[in-house]
Amino acid sequence: MKKIKIISFIGIGLINSSLARDLKGKGFYLKSIAYSRTKKTRNILKKLKIVDQVADNYEEAVKDADIIIIGVPVEAFSSVINKISNHLKPGAIVTDVGSVKKSLIKVSEKVLSKEVDFVPGHPIAGTENSGPEAGFKGLFKNGYCILTPSSKVKKASLSVVIRMWNLVGMKVEIMDPDYHDMVLAITSHIPHIIAYSIVGTVSNLEKSIKTEVIKYAASGFKDFTRIAASDPVMWRDIMISNKSSILKMLKIFKNDLAKLEVAIRKEDSNFLYNLFSKTRKIRKRIIK
Ligand code: NAP
Repeated sequence: MKKIKIISFIGIGLINSSLARDLKGKGFYLKSIAYSRTKKTRNILKKLKIVDQVADNYEEAVKDADIIIIGVPVEAFSSVINKISNHLKPGAIVTDVGSVKKSLIKVSEKVLSKEVDFVPGHPIAGTENSGPEAGFKGLFKNGYCILTPSSKVKKASLSVVIRMWNLVGMKVEIMDPDYHDMVLAITSHIPHIIAYSIVGTVSNLEKSIKTEVIKYAASGFKDFTRIAASDPVMWRDIMISNKSSILKMLKIFKNDLAKLEVAIRKEDSNFLYNLFSKTRKIRKRIIK
């Protein structure tokens, strides 16, 4: 198994800081280093003591690293990979945690040298909070991490990334990047669009109705507000980066919504009962 002396976290908010917390003391690396673009976040990192060293720039953070984990909003990935690519040592493994895969792979194929392996990754875990202080131990436990490596990636590099996610409690699945973006569009990105849309509709309503909505929020609306409280930069970037898959899935969703509207208008009780029974079964399967 390939030995990891130095691990480097580039961008260290909710996801990478949770990973740093979980990997600490597990014997995966000898030394950890992290870099975040703002001094404010770097100062927070120094206080949190979840990594051994906080670097002052990209070069210092990656030049000796055996594995680099990029944890920035997906639209920032291109600029970050461009800034680090010339400083990576031959044999280094670059991986990431971004919620969209196809667009990031396209960028890294252009920028990274052949001596560096890129193993794109997406841990399916998270909360609506951001920043390194929002991270916590155990975030990834029992979840899935999807990896979308190309066939050119060395087996040894892939094994290292799989071992890293296994160590923090994740099951790893290998997937085609197009398929990943399509699956995530329907399971994660469309639900966020619905939440942002419904909470946005309420915020546009007259003030008096808004007061009642807040008062009676427990009746379903509250669940939407949790999702709609997710980081605006992260989600703006996901919508843009995964535009084509999201638009395909949105078309299917709008079609189904139109059918539901017709059923309500026609008081089609069979349609409504059957749909709501089917969705209840899906919930039970997920909980199981
Ligand atoms: P986060 O808590 O908001 O942290 C973002 C990090 O990226 C910070 O270190 C931030 O630096 C840095 N950053 C932001 N904009 C940047 C830019 N333009 N250039 C360079 N660095 C920049 O984010 P997160 O929730 O950990 O998400 C990180 C990645 O994980 C995203 O790609 C997201 O799609 C993916 N992901 C998120 C979740 C989730 O539930 N949150 C789940 C799975 C995957 P400063 O603090 O110094 O500004």
